[in-house]
Amino acid sequence: MKEDLLHNLEIIQNRIRNACVKSGRNPNEVKLLLATKTVSADRIKTALENGQTLIGENKVQELKEKYEDLKEVPHTNHFIGHLQTNKIKDILKYDVSCIQSVDRLELAEKLHERLLFENKTIEVLIQVNTSNEDSKFGVHPDHAIELIKKVSGLNTIKIKGLMTIGLFSAETEKVRQCFKILKNLQQEIILQTIPHVEMKELSMGMSGDLETAIEEGSTIVRVGTAVFGTRIYPDSHYWNEGTI
Ligand SMILES: *Cc1c(COP(=O)(O)O)cnc(C)c1O
Repeated sequence: MKEDLLHNLEIIQNRIRNACVKSGRNPNEVKLLLATKTVSADRIKTALENGQTLIGENKVQELKEKYEDLKEVPHTNHFIGHLQTNKIKDILKYDVSCIQSVDRLELAEKLHERLLFENKTIEVLIQVNTSNEDSKFGVHPDHAIELIKKVSGLNTIKIKGLMTIGLFSAETEKVRQCFKILKNLQQEIILQTIPHVEMKELSMGMSGDLETAIEEGSTIVRVGTAVFGTRIYPDSHYWNEGTI
C-alpha cells in the first residue's frame, strides 16, 4: 500500500516535470496539491511524510475528521469543494489557508463578516465554470470580473488567482479550451489592475488532464485518483448540489 502510494507520487512528479519541459516552463512554477477526499488520514500522512506539503479537501466534515491526526505533520491546507455559507464558521477552525472555490458574492460576504469577527484574513481563488456544465460550480466566465471587483472590496479576503475544473472529456482540445478560458481571464484581470487582487495562481488540471493544464499555464494541479487510487463515491457526490 505504502509503496504503491510512493510510486504513484513519483509517477505524478515525473508527469509534471515532463509537461513543464515540453512547454518550456520551470517545474518549480507548478505546485502539486493532493486532493484527499475519501482518503484516510493515515494515507495522507504517508504522503506528507514523504515530501508532500499541500493538500485539499472538498468537505468541511472530512477536514474536521482528519484534522487532529494530520496536525502532527507540517502541511498546508486548501479547500477545493463547494462551500455552503452555513459551514463558514466551521471551516475557519481548521487552518485552511486558501479557499479555492469562492464563486459567488453571498459566500464572500458571509466569509468576510465572519473573518472580521474573528480578526482573521484568508486567501481565496475564484472558481470559474469554464466547461459550461450545470453540474459544476463556479462563476460564469462573463461574470467573473464583476465578482472579483466586488470581492476585492472585502479587505479580509485576499484574491490570489483563479480555479477551474476542466471538462470531462477524452477530447484533449475541448479540455484545453477550458484552461485557455481561465488563462485568458487571468490576463484580462491583470490588465485591469484591480486593487488588492493578485492573479498569480491558476489552479487547473487533475489526474486525467494535468499535462494539458500545465501547457496552458497551470500553477497548481490538484491530483487525487492518480495518487490514491479510485474513489468509491462518484465525483457527482461532491460536485452536484442535490447530493450534498
Ligand atoms: C477530486 C477533485 C480533484 C482530483 O480529481 P482526480 O481526478 O481524482 O485527480 C481535483 N479538483 C477537485 C475540485 C476535486 O474535487
